Amino acid sequence: MDNKIELIGLSKEELQEHLKQLGEPAFRAKQIWQWVYFYGKTDFEEMTNLSKSLREKLSEYFELSRPKIVAEQISTDKTHKWLLEFKDGQKVEMVYIPEEDRGAVCISTQVGCAMGCKFCHTGSQRLTRNLTAGEIVSQFMVARDVYKEWNLKEQARMLSNIVVMGMGEPFQNYDNLVRAMKIISDGEGIALSKRRITVSTSGIVPHIPNFDKEVGTKLAVSLHASNNDLRSQIMPINKKYPLPELMKACHQYQENHGGYITFEYLMLQNFNDTYEHATELMNLMKQYKINAKFNLIAFNPWPGCDFVPSSNNRIHAFSETLQKHGFSAPIRTPRGQDILAACGQLKSQKKDL
Ligand code: SAH
Ligand code: SF4
Repeated sequence: MDNKIELIGLSKEELQEHLKQLGEPAFRAKQIWQWVYFYGKTDFEEMTNLSKSLREKLSEYFELSRPKIVAEQISTDKTHKWLLEFKDGQKVEMVYIPEEDRGAVCISTQVGCAMGCKFCHTGSQRLTRNLTAGEIVSQFMVARDVYKEWNLKEQARMLSNIVVMGMGEPFQNYDNLVRAMKIISDGEGIALSKRRITVSTSGIVPHIPNFDKEVGTKLAVSLHASNNDLRSQIMPINKKYPLPELMKACHQYQENHGGYITFEYLMLQNFNDTYEHATELMNLMKQYKINAKFNLIAFNPWPGCDFVPSSNNRIHAFSETLQKHGFSAPIRTPRGQDILAACGQLKSQKKDL
């Protein structure tokens, strides 16, 4: 058959539907799902509880593809970066950030990004296309292949978390994001709990209030400024969804979800990192009744970007000011900077590797 169906990325219901067309009962979907997403098999021949004739039928009908690893690099701090290529030749970068006994895989949702944030390497490369749900999921599957982590108990996994913080704005590709998160967290397959997944957005307001109901993973909002004017200077999306609207949406998310909201705050020397900015930021939270947690991110420079990272002293002082007033404000140490694998440094051209 010429036009095979890509199996990775189908929902369980869709898989069942396809199997029905092949004259197979519904329970086959569950068996196949386990082979693909629990055991990580890439060849129907290895699905030994299916008859030979069915295995042949499946391999004529479906494709089980992974993106190809076309380059990889490991940083001095053990951060691992891969350049992955999809069937049409488009590429994204994926990063694994290991901690002592666990670690996060940073995956992408788009090739490039249309948001154009001034401090972001990905943003300097225009949007080429959205990734499909299957392409989002299969990035993580490649990481599991490399680290041989199929069929492992949760406690034994080094690839314990996912951060959707690679290339692209996840909320610009919302439907595929929702589908992908559903597949990744499905208990009969990859089974990564939604508590271990964080999706980061630059602030596409309409998707924030109901994010918990619709996606249910953790959410991080890239704030990066303490007032509307500053934010507009570095994030063009702030003109479409200005800070007051973003704050209201975050408040609503918190009301619907309970608990707190996490903000990413990039530390840019003399731009947003003074005592006055910290005070302004806290007042903003008070004004909109938001229980905020801040992740203070060191700015990762890249060739051609004029921003200067804040000094360590400034970052610590900023963090202390926030903490003194009851806000959690840990400082995120950059990882993989030497191989351009840190936040905001990803691009999809091979020459960067
Ligand atoms: N598009 C989404 C998710 C991907 S970016 C978003 O913007 O939230 C992941 C995080 O890296 C965001 O918080 C983003 O603001 C941050 N980031 C971008 N460029 C960076 C840089 N040069 N140094 C440090 N962090 C950066
Ligand atoms: Fe896109 Fe996020 Fe980079 Fe902004 S920071 S350009 S939204 S990837």
